[in-house]
Amino acid sequence: MAVFVDCHCHLNHPPLDSRIVEIVEKCREGNVLKIFNTAGSFEENFKVIETSSKFKGFVHPVLGISPHSANEEEIEDKLEKILTLIEKERPSAIGEIGLDFHFDYDRKKQFKLFESQLQLAQTLDLPVMVHSRGAERECLEKMTEFKVRGAFHFFLVPELVDEIKGKFLISIPTIKSKKREKVIKKMGLEGVLCETDSPFAWNGVNEPSNVVEVYDKISSTLHLNPEAVQEKILENVENFFRV
Ligand SMILES: [Zn+2]
Repeated sequence: MAVFVDCHCHLNHPPLDSRIVEIVEKCREGNVLKIFNTAGSFEENFKVIETSSKFKGFVHPVLGISPHSANEEEIEDKLEKILTLIEKERPSAIGEIGLDFHFDYDRKKQFKLFESQLQLAQTLDLPVMVHSRGAERECLEKMTEFKVRGAFHFFLVPELVDEIKGKFLISIPTIKSKKREKVIKKMGLEGVLCETDSPFAWNGVNEPSNVVEVYDKISSTLHLNPEAVQEKILENVENFFRV
């Protein structure tokens, strides 16, 4: 039987948040059997916990504060609260965390958020799901420094794949581009995950059930049997998240 996994999406982000029951149902019908529901903002963390406990074993929580929160007021205080929450909840992973140099967020604060969460990931032996837009090399250096199990989410930089391969995973998004194809070719099946980043990364509103598109793309790019691709990626998921 076909089995798909969406390793990175935001079910509690509008407009998905009002349709969660329907979205989960659609996933089950399409054999998407695990979803890693990821927090971005401080507030979203509490909603992610609630949704994951409602769909236990199906929707897995990924908690953390993204670099996009770096400019917020009282961010230090929020960070402390999230670190405590992660220790208590023991989510499947810490995310999405990382660095974003594409937009104008305070870089010093971004590093503080990223390093504190990497440190906790190392202490608790939890994997990290990393956002690295425009700061891929800097993220790679930090992840190496903290010796964590990590995956680059929404990763489209073929030039860096050789340095990542064998050390970290790459999560392939639902973005149709030449760069995505190059990343898949260079990375191969070993160490790849699939994601939708719903509700983003789609022409319209994205949903976890669309993750099937990524699996199809990997099979056709690598000329591999679809079932073999599903099996190997499921193994990657289980080894990485330990679920
Ligand atoms: Zn995301």
